[in-house]
Amino acid sequence: MVCLAGATFRGRPVSLATRHGKERVLARPFRRGLDLTVVVASGFDTDLLGTFSGERPRPADALETCRRKAQAGMDHTGLDLGLASEGSFGAHPAFPWLTAGTEWLTFVDRRSGLVIAESLLAARTNFDHRVVSPDDDLQDWLRRVGFPSHGLIARPHRSDGGTAAADGPLIKGIGTPGQLAEALWRCAEASDDGQVRLETDMRAHCNPTRLASIRTLAFRLVRRIASPCPACGAPGWGLGEGLVGLPCAWCGQPTQRLRAEVWGCEVCGHREEKPRRDGRGAADPGDCPRCNP
Ligand SMILES: [Zn+2]
Ligand SMILES: [Zn+2]
Repeated sequence: MVCLAGATFRGRPVSLATRHGKERVLARPFRRGLDLTVVVASGFDTDLLGTFSGERPRPADALETCRRKAQAGMDHTGLDLGLASEGSFGAHPAFPWLTAGTEWLTFVDRRSGLVIAESLLAARTNFDHRVVSPDDDLQDWLRRVGFPSHGLIARPHRSDGGTAAADGPLIKGIGTPGQLAEALWRCAEASDDGQVRLETDMRAHCNPTRLASIRTLAFRLVRRIASPCPACGAPGWGLGEGLVGLPCAWCGQPTQRLRAEVWGCEVCGHREEKPRRDGRGAADPGDCPRCNP
């Protein structure tokens, strides 16, 4: 068992497995906060671990994919520190009529065996898709998804509802009106009903909103790596799962609202319960299953 107290990362290079320009937002927080130099694991195909656009299904959940990606980057560069990020997009967990993105960022130290991960729920995302004809007026939708500063992906629509791109073109990184017009025409021609499935390109280099979320997450992970566990001294002390059950202000019944934050250490299992940062001790009766069933 390696003693992790005082484990130090200062001055070491850390490999970053990315083909999507994430070093633009990750290099600075890691240098300023931890004196680590980010080295891009270039030429390494992170798509082997699955892609957003679904040509290759992801073999594992996002957190596990992220860890494997960091390790693959370390294998590639021969470094013993690794970093990788991963995102997933869909319905917001608390407000399913909204879309949200979850970003993960994982730091792996092969010397000590430490794995420190941090995640971020990004309420602001342009994640969306739409089935269109080349003649449709798309201006409102394009404005909403941030085109052309945010890229798009086009593929032929399939009337059976499938999205797999086994047949026909899959055009990614569409970033100009001219490219969009050409992609619409090519995909409509290849589709069985003349329609095109357009979706937001969520790869970081095509998506400034996502890149901004990854930057925020980088600061969070750096802070966590720099925080030692009060019990064992290992790096990575930080917020874990929240505890639900904030009592209703009227009847005192537990609700689904957060009651407390639990901070924890992955190494020794030490846990500390802290009150909500906003100081709220009671939930709105509107969130209560008894008062507002
Ligand atoms: Zn600990
Ligand atoms: Zn109540």
